[in-house]
Amino acid sequence: MKGKEKKRGPIIAIDGPSGVGKTTISKLVAQSLGFRYIETGAMYRAFAVAANDAGVNVDDEDELEEFSKGIEVTFDNNYEKIFINNKDYSGRIRDASSGELASRASSKKAVRDFLVRLQRELGHEGCVVMEGRDIGTVVFPDADVKIFLDAKSEVRAGRRHAQLSASPGFAENGGATVDAEKVAGDIEERDRRDSTRRHSPLKKADDAVYVDTSEAGVRDIEKRVLGIIKERTGIGDNNR
Ligand code: C5P
Repeated sequence: MKGKEKKRGPIIAIDGPSGVGKTTISKLVAQSLGFRYIETGAMYRAFAVAANDAGVNVDDEDELEEFSKGIEVTFDNNYEKIFINNKDYSGRIRDASSGELASRASSKKAVRDFLVRLQRELGHEGCVVMEGRDIGTVVFPDADVKIFLDAKSEVRAGRRHAQLSASPGFAENGGATVDAEKVAGDIEERDRRDSTRRHSPLKKADDAVYVDTSEAGVRDIEKRVLGIIKERTGIGDNNR
């Protein structure tokens, strides 16, 4: 690592809108570096689904804040499964309706304060790749490397549609009737809400590296991101 010795390991922040490939790329990069991978979108999704299950109005900040006081959010060892009050929500957070609930709940400051605190706890030791919307701007403004992944909206809509079609339970949940145009409309609306909200809107940090993933394949983007990390921190395949 360059410069002064730091007490913690490197923090890699990867942000960007829906359907840009953040999760796929972040997982591969974390794997390649041997870092912990934290998907913050899963936390907003699980929180919102659990709140909705409990009869909480996900547009009501007071109700959401009250709900947050009675819950504990935990993970399995690999941070692949997410539990709320010991109940596994991992299988219920990949459909379009959980994304919609998450986007609504995540615009509320009380929800953000609650989950950002948890994200900072999870990442404070470093050696972590954390992915979301506000990691480089709010959660870890001092992250060692900040990447902003983006792609043309039609490419993002196509990727999200493919992902939804492949997810378990898609057909059973009425997925067969969800067409590509509807998915495109939904993600446009979600991105609009995420980018225009008052608290921690989705935006590129000034010091983030912008990477357009529209034309590139997964392995190319992974290589590009690993290259940026290597350039900024000196960490990479060669010294592992
Ligand atoms: O990334 P993913 O699509 O799973 O995120 C679901 C929703 O959670 C987003 O649309 C956004 O509203 C919210 N989110 C957020 N901040 C993050 C991660 C996700 O507001 N760091």
